[in-house]
Amino acid sequence: MHEMSLAESIRGIVEETAQGQGAQRVKTIVLAIGELASVEVEALRFCLDVVLRDSLADGAAIKIEPVAGAGWCPACDRSVPLVQRYDPCPHCDGYQLRPTGGTEMRVKEIEVE
Ligand SMILES: [Zn+2]
Repeated sequence: MHEMSLAESIRGIVEETAQGQGAQRVKTIVLAIGELASVEVEALRFCLDVVLRDSLADGAAIKIEPVAGAGWCPACDRSVPLVQRYDPCPHCDGYQLRPTGGTEMRVKEIEVE
């Protein structure tokens, strides 16, 4: 389960940002998670609940914004929507798609007080 290490890196980013802003408390954390990022959202929420305890972000609301996946098909020479990493191209049914979007997870913004 890599969600725990993701949660820990999120805590690092959030704490650093919050301290940089002189914040007392983090109210909201907004995460952008790509559909192809292989992140189990429920597992991540659980891990965040654990790792954020006793941090500046203890009890912060976690908002998750999904980012649509996209892939490049070399056969069609075009970009296509991609819902799952190993899906075929919707135009030519080929399995050559290279994921180009929605593969990452990042901390989009935090709200502090
Ligand atoms: Zn294609």
